[in-house]
Amino acid sequence: MEIVTAPDCLLCTAERITHWYYEDEQCWVADCTICSTPMVVWKSHGLPDEPTREVLLGRLGAVADSEYPEGWWLDGEMRKIPDHFHAHARPANGFFGRRKT
Ligand SMILES: [Zn+2]
Ligand SMILES: [Zn+2]
Repeated sequence: MEIVTAPDCLLCTAERITHWYYEDEQCWVADCTICSTPMVVWKSHGLPDEPTREVLLGRLGAVADSEYPEGWWLDGEMRKIPDHFHAHARPANGFFGRRKT
């Protein structure tokens, strides 16, 4: 897979300032700096095709199942950075997660 990055994109630079759950050659899952909920980010700047998207959401789902055993929902809306694929898993009745130290 070819990885494309954009120099000014916060998701491409991916500073490790929050808890990281998972990483492989195509994506990573870490707590969002704003929401403190697990977020999957594609390593390439852009939008994946459907099969890739399914794989990435599967990675997020595995993290979310252990982080929120009582339930969670997938928030696929890309509010701040609409041109770089990412998705949040949020707790069943909430929007923000627990901030870890
Ligand atoms: Zn967020
Ligand atoms: Zn990017």
